[in-house]
Amino acid sequence: MLNLYNTLTAQVEEFHPLDNKHVRMYVCGPTVYDYAHIGNFRTFVFADLLRRYLKFKGYELTHVMNITDIEDKIIKRANEDGADFREFTTKYINLFFEDWDALGLERPEQIIRATDCIDDMVAIIKRLEANGLTYNSDGSTYYRIAGFNGYGKLSKINFEGNIAGGSDRVDADEYEKENVRDFVLWKAAKPGEPSWETEIGAGRPGWHIECSAMSMKALGETFDIHAGGIDLVFPHHENEIAQSEGATGKPFVKYWVHSEFLLAEGEKMSKSKGNYYTVRGLVDQGFSHRAIRYMLLSAQHLKQFNFTMEGLRGAESTVARLKDFRLRLGEAKCNPGSNPAMPVLSKRAQQRFEAALDDDLNVAEALAAIHDFVREVNIALADGTLKADNQTEMLKVVAKFDSVFNIFGEAKQEMLDDEIQALVDERQAARKAKNFARSDEIRNLLAEKGIVLEDTKDGMRWKRK
Ligand SMILES: [Zn+2]
Repeated sequence: MLNLYNTLTAQVEEFHPLDNKHVRMYVCGPTVYDYAHIGNFRTFVFADLLRRYLKFKGYELTHVMNITDIEDKIIKRANEDGADFREFTTKYINLFFEDWDALGLERPEQIIRATDCIDDMVAIIKRLEANGLTYNSDGSTYYRIAGFNGYGKLSKINFEGNIAGGSDRVDADEYEKENVRDFVLWKAAKPGEPSWETEIGAGRPGWHIECSAMSMKALGETFDIHAGGIDLVFPHHENEIAQSEGATGKPFVKYWVHSEFLLAEGEKMSKSKGNYYTVRGLVDQGFSHRAIRYMLLSAQHLKQFNFTMEGLRGAESTVARLKDFRLRLGEAKCNPGSNPAMPVLSKRAQQRFEAALDDDLNVAEALAAIHDFVREVNIALADGTLKADNQTEMLKVVAKFDSVFNIFGEAKQEMLDDEIQALVDERQAARKAKNFARSDEIRNLLAEKGIVLEDTKDGMRWKRK
């Protein structure tokens, strides 16, 4: 049974989705105005782990992620660049998904751009209006937080006596807890800003209404999991609850799951301090995506994680070791038969792995289970106690672990073009010399790697299957 810490109840709870087998999950996606940094990706790598583990547990999953492509910072940056904001955001969306795919993250079932859901946002604002939770000022629409009973229940802030109401409001998309105020739902059109003509006037949405609209559109008015970085608890997620529950009168989300901050060399990451790292910046320095992924996964999501270059170098050698292990295990020539000690070992490792992840995604313990398993199988490989039947079983166990972590690398070594050509040339020479045994051996070796040989009038050609 999976147990998760729920920010809403401030407790670790058993996970029971609303619909027995089907989990509906929303994760706040990127605001696209710059290259995503490793702090952003800590959240997405965590969400990927949660996603993969839910599937591992046998759930069907609908995972939805938004793209915030209209927001204060985007408009500012696009204007600075003199760019059309839709083209500007499309560029950063493409760059974002290059990193995403390279880090081995699975794509959510639905990815939704905010600017494709303006009508849905307007519809929620109209419902809030009908429920007496909004007011207008200078063409903008604001949320009256004093009118919503549950305001503060996620972030546990007590705003009573702290809010003037009616005149005390905030227009910015981001603000601090000290500034608990009525927040903007719809911003009146301004020169130099994109805007939409709607029933509630010309303007653009505030950031918070975007996620209420997109999540409920894709997943319904009540769903299972809402995840994101801890910095989103206030005001973003608090405001999402106020908007969604204020409009529908129903509970919005059952489990709120947040991942903690990432520090870099012990401090908050910032461009001015020189400890600001993007995924592509680290790749340019020679690090692999898999090592970056491993590093971002290696601490439990509720713990702050301190990124260091030394830690990343360590992750690099760890993933190299795991890759090497999987390849050697696949290629070893084991004696036929089965060693009964091996299934005991693999069962123990799998139980430990699952118990760790059931315990609020305790990744450190789950990784320890993997590393101990690797060490024990390595010993069995070295002393010949791993038999052919065990070999198949152990490869399956590795694949199972990797369906959740995706850190081992490919099951089969990709052959480089040069290596293939060298073997093809050697085979030609062997055939000429009538060494058919060697020629067949090379053909079989290439076939195992998925390389097909073709005789053409211009000689021997090879291609990948
Ligand atoms: Zn959001």
